[in-house]
Amino acid sequence: MSSLRFRVVEEAFKKKAVPVERPEERPSEYFAKYVFNREKMFRYLPRKTYDALVDAIDNGKPLNREIADPVAAGMKKWAIEMGVTHYTHWFHPLTDGTAEKHDAFVEHDGKGGMVEEFSGKLLIQQEGDASSFPNGGIRNTFEARGYSAWDPSSPAFIVGDTLCIPTIFISYTGESLDYKAPLLKSIDAVTSAALEVCHYFDSRVKKVYSYLGWEQEYFLVDEGLYAARPDLLLTGRTLMGHESSKNQQLEDHYFGAIPTRVSAFMQELEIESLKLGIPVKTRHNEVAPNQFELAPIYEECNLANDHNQVIMELMRRVARRHGFRVLLHEKPFKGVNGSGKHNNWSLGTDTGIPLLAPAKTPEGNLQFVTFLVNVIMAVYKHNALLKASISSATNAHRLGANEAPPAIISIFLGSQMSDVLDALENSSDDAVIELCDKTGVKLNISQIPELLMDNTDRNRTSPFAFTGNRFEFRAVGSSANCAAAMIVLNSAVAHQLRLFKEEVDKKIQAGESKEKAIIRVLKKYIKESKPIRFDGNGYSDEWKAEAAARGLDCETSTPVIFDAYIKPASVEMFSAVGVMNAVELAARNEVKWEMYTKKIQIEARVMGDLALNHILPVATRYQALLLDTVCKIKEVFPPEEAAAMSSKDMEIIRKIARHTLSIQEMVATMVNARKLANKIEGERAKAIAYHDTVAPMLDEIRYHIDKLELMVDNQMWPLPKYREMLFVR
Ligand code: ADP
Ligand code: MG
Repeated sequence: MSSLRFRVVEEAFKKKAVPVERPEERPSEYFAKYVFNREKMFRYLPRKTYDALVDAIDNGKPLNREIADPVAAGMKKWAIEMGVTHYTHWFHPLTDGTAEKHDAFVEHDGKGGMVEEFSGKLLIQQEGDASSFPNGGIRNTFEARGYSAWDPSSPAFIVGDTLCIPTIFISYTGESLDYKAPLLKSIDAVTSAALEVCHYFDSRVKKVYSYLGWEQEYFLVDEGLYAARPDLLLTGRTLMGHESSKNQQLEDHYFGAIPTRVSAFMQELEIESLKLGIPVKTRHNEVAPNQFELAPIYEECNLANDHNQVIMELMRRVARRHGFRVLLHEKPFKGVNGSGKHNNWSLGTDTGIPLLAPAKTPEGNLQFVTFLVNVIMAVYKHNALLKASISSATNAHRLGANEAPPAIISIFLGSQMSDVLDALENSSDDAVIELCDKTGVKLNISQIPELLMDNTDRNRTSPFAFTGNRFEFRAVGSSANCAAAMIVLNSAVAHQLRLFKEEVDKKIQAGESKEKAIIRVLKKYIKESKPIRFDGNGYSDEWKAEAAARGLDCETSTPVIFDAYIKPASVEMFSAVGVMNAVELAARNEVKWEMYTKKIQIEARVMGDLALNHILPVATRYQALLLDTVCKIKEVFPPEEAAAMSSKDMEIIRKIARHTLSIQEMVATMVNARKLANKIEGERAKAIAYHDTVAPMLDEIRYHIDKLELMVDNQMWPLPKYREMLFVR
């Protein structure tokens, strides 16, 4: 009966590591082989075109349409030499993942033949037949056009036989329908606001960069086992499954030796990543069995985000070559850790100064503290919005559970930085003057470099931690597009830096010295933003109570959390920095609610099907076996003896009956709840109904199924068990 399960387990056990072909060149030689980077631009573009393009990329100079043709020609030449036949505008729609529509280079030559064609026009802009992408009602049907437009700041790259051109995706009327357009705007906003603030300290700085270094966590599951689990296949997570007797208690997986099949997968993934110009650096096991992590060296935020999207696809492809499926879901398995995607974020100047790292001079440190405090202030003001940016139906399983960041955004600073800010807050004006004096060390701010050498007291429970030279936003989900979080963070910090500059300028105009003005404003911010700072245990119940008392956002219902995007303070902030307007924000929320509903709806359907068609028949069959045994015992033995002998079996029979009955009733209740929710008009209300009435049923039904799993004969159980999925590799 459960022959499929046993067959796939047996096959999985026999699988050997797939040999990986190592390129003959060294990594430094094949790095970015598939990328139209500067080196190739230089080789394939006329000098004037190259200069104009680089100027556009580096300095945001508008691209002259005339240069599109020679750029397209150069790209095409390179791509064809690389064996490429197709090209695609590659973009990030509001669903998870990326989208592409492949077109061949060929066009009619007008003489009955074909030529390879790729014009500047095709490079720059394409009209998408993209009405099937979520748009939150921005495009009504007769205006169902969307445009993808070239993003020259992220280089084109080759996957298989296709040249991929990173693009933004916007509606006919100019609203963003993707993640990249607002991300680019937010990067622009934060880097220009930061540049102005930098000029208080150093007039030579010409540009500020926003950096992102993501750490991608994931699970690998043997492909055969995966195929035997319809829930994994259709929802990305296990909707049922009793915990394995052993899971992560021994903590023997984290940083342990990497299993050989996995190691082969990782090697190939790294080689392919490097060829795509993704500077992958670390790989290791994570906390949960069969959970792993991959991290590159940080890059400029937009490029880093493209690279994350590319790598998620690449992981899927490479995993299949190694007989695995990669699980990017935030919580594929109950009872073991979920997967996140830490977003390490910072700002830095073109002169090489990291703006969130301690410096060697008091002046440099004042600049550092200025940026640090403004980030804290931005996160404080927009903590609800930041939470909304990482919230989803899938990440909800991770947040608030006792293992991952809690569903309240707070900042961990560490004791040293907390001391520095406390000292600054309580400093007298004299100390303030001394701090700004070249020799002044009264606040020990010039000592920070030494102090921070050791940042081992990192708090793993904090969703947003300062880690010495950057902030680490840990609440981001493993399947998310990093841009969602980065758009909010960049925008909020941009807005905050602007407000800061206004306040400081006002004080300077009133005759205060620049340093004094800066410090006065910082002191005020430090006081004001205190509620967001929390170095304690983020999982404790005391924290939940305290966070509420501090006025931090404590909402736990995902659809309601999304409201933060359309609150007046958010709309004002996004509009002020030019990232998104009210129409876009409203439309995007519609999409979020719709996606939420659909995900829960799919899970509920799969759950109903598995419960009724896979689990119940097996449970009742096992129950019948037991009944049979009991009857036979009765036939053979005297009544008293028979009763004693079969008492345990009778108990199990009753238990099975109770669980199967509960499952039947609950599935009916769930179906009903779905029907009612489906009738609700309005995406928000519908999503809330799904959250309140459908989602909880999934857990309740699961409870009974997991109990049955412990009772029913192992030989009969149809679905691969947790121990098999988590330990076979
Ligand atoms: P962890 O100890 O958190 O696992 P890792 O060193 O594995 O740290 O990864 C940290 C990530 O942060 C890497 O992607 C790294 O490149 C990135 N990172 C390091 N410094 C910065 C910075 N200043 N700004 C942004 N990202 C950074
Ligand atoms: Mg980290």
